[in-house]
Amino acid sequence: MTQLLVIRLSSVGDILLASPVAGRLRLLRPEAHITWLVDEGYQALLAHHPAVDRVVAYDYLGRHRGPAGLRVLCAELGAVEAVYDLQHKLRSSLVCAALRPAARRVLVKRRGLEVVRALLGHDTILRGPHQVERNLSLLDGVGEAPLPVAVADPASLPEARAWRRDFAGERPAVGLVVGARHATKRWPREHWSLLAARCLEEGLAVALLGGPEDADDIEALRAGLAGARLGAFHAAGLAGLMARLACLDALVCPDSGPAHLAAALGRPVVALFGPTSPERWAPRGPAVAVARLPLACSPCSNHGSGACPLGTHECMRALGVETVHAELAGLLAREGLAP
Ligand code: SF4
Repeated sequence: MTQLLVIRLSSVGDILLASPVAGRLRLLRPEAHITWLVDEGYQALLAHHPAVDRVVAYDYLGRHRGPAGLRVLCAELGAVEAVYDLQHKLRSSLVCAALRPAARRVLVKRRGLEVVRALLGHDTILRGPHQVERNLSLLDGVGEAPLPVAVADPASLPEARAWRRDFAGERPAVGLVVGARHATKRWPREHWSLLAARCLEEGLAVALLGGPEDADDIEALRAGLAGARLGAFHAAGLAGLMARLACLDALVCPDSGPAHLAAALGRPVVALFGPTSPERWAPRGPAVAVARLPLACSPCSNHGSGACPLGTHECMRALGVETVHAELAGLLAREGLAP
């Protein structure tokens, strides 16, 4: 059987925006066996993907460490006819070189003049094309791009349903992701507080979501919304997060991994964009709305940064609660869940 290997090692959003490559490969090569190589910890994203036959975890700090570990990894991957390297970093290049496939296609982030322009502060890839189209450019197929797909682990769903029942009962349940890794992508805490209060007034149940680093924000928000039933969550692991997102009726989230994950799970998502470009990074899914201000300085960054170059952070501070709420209400209305 023809063996194909896709490499996108990390991270959540990047892997999901690369997942349409597996969908198109399945259409182009229905007879092929498709393996995906991800970094250890990300397997849950693709474990139940309908177009991926096998997920191999790259344990580069453990059993796959060093030259001997690379040989172990190659033995686990086996003979491969073609590699699609969507990572294009040292580790993926070493795997490709060691496997010696008959064909190798590599996604190069910037070429020629694009590199020079980026060095001069005019990064042309900030605005697009969208990352899904960039990933699919490695393949020959044409036509509408497949959507990113994620499927929650059925074994994680009972616990997630119980979690939802506990804080939402029969009410529509909305998740608010109050954090983001890069400071410039964060929406101010006061805005989250107002949005959460408005949702609760309208009879929606609210889950405050974030990583461990957002625990203080979540607790402060919970304290300010005393008396309301809130489902705070920040530590269920990737499989647990997928299952919980799959149980929500909608998510409001900055441009970050959970937004891509919820969209790929088919959940309605309002994505908040400020320093980064939705033309390049908007989540793809059946029901995605983008909330963003049309500022001349935006986008200023490909992935977000620690501080606003202008010192104002207007892109997120001035993005109003009314605007975000209107997008959320629109998505819920389409689902027949209007508050
Ligand atoms: S420069 Fe503009 S887009 Fe960038 S962080 Fe500041 S306000 Fe936002």
